[in-house]
Amino acid sequence: MKNRGILIVLSGPAGTGKGTICKEFLKKNPDTVLSVSATTRSPRPGEQHGMDYYFTTRDDFEKMIAQNGFLEYAEFCENYYGTPIKAVNDKLDEGMNVILEIEVQGAMQIKEKKHDAVFVFIAPPSKKILRERIEGRGTETPAVIEKRMLAAETELKQISNYDYIIVNDDVESAVKRFEAIKEAESYKTTRNEEFIREVCR
Ligand code: ADP
Ligand code: 5GP
Repeated sequence: MKNRGILIVLSGPAGTGKGTICKEFLKKNPDTVLSVSATTRSPRPGEQHGMDYYFTTRDDFEKMIAQNGFLEYAEFCENYYGTPIKAVNDKLDEGMNVILEIEVQGAMQIKEKKHDAVFVFIAPPSKKILRERIEGRGTETPAVIEKRMLAAETELKQISNYDYIIVNDDVESAVKRFEAIKEAESYKTTRNEEFIREVCR
């Protein structure tokens, strides 16, 4: 029998490279999927509904909160972001690993609820490089960049609440470290109880 998939919570300040690392990781790891979140923020050029996010109104988002439709949700830079619960549970039950690329408040909600998750923080090599990356991406206005840099200050202070830190100095090395974490987690005794019962019988 297949073990339940691993719930991987990935956080890090906007612009640190979470999206870039995930994209490369997913290409090489077909046993893992990325959860698609709902958000009230507007789509960036090229972003697609149902692929990058479920873009939704505040009203609809709040209805889904009332129906307990989210595994976690948070307000970040004046928009709601949340993880639809059903898709995540279905994939984990199928034995697929699921990555939640979410900010710190949401990650801490998952930690408080004691889900069997692994918490990974992607850190920039420095704040200066973080600013260069977020500016270089060219997807936010200067005002939004300032808000995100401010949010980054708070987020970096929470790194110790995570199990692992990956410094994204180089994408290829960062992806390798991420793969090593997934691999090690899959060998935890607590994730292999079915086999342990079998072998002891
Ligand atoms: P996030 O998803 O964390 O907001 P992105 O993946 O969009 O961040 O990356 C932000 C910008 O930084 C992008 O332009 C990306 O190409 C660039 N970037 C990501 N990782 C690195 C790296 N290791 N070295 C240099 N640039 C990077
Ligand atoms: P962005 O607007 O840059 O796509 O995302 C802003 C922040 O929201 C990022 O830190 C991203 O990881 C986070 N985020 C995306 N989806 C979710 C979610 O479902 N829940 C929470 N809590 N944060 C999310």
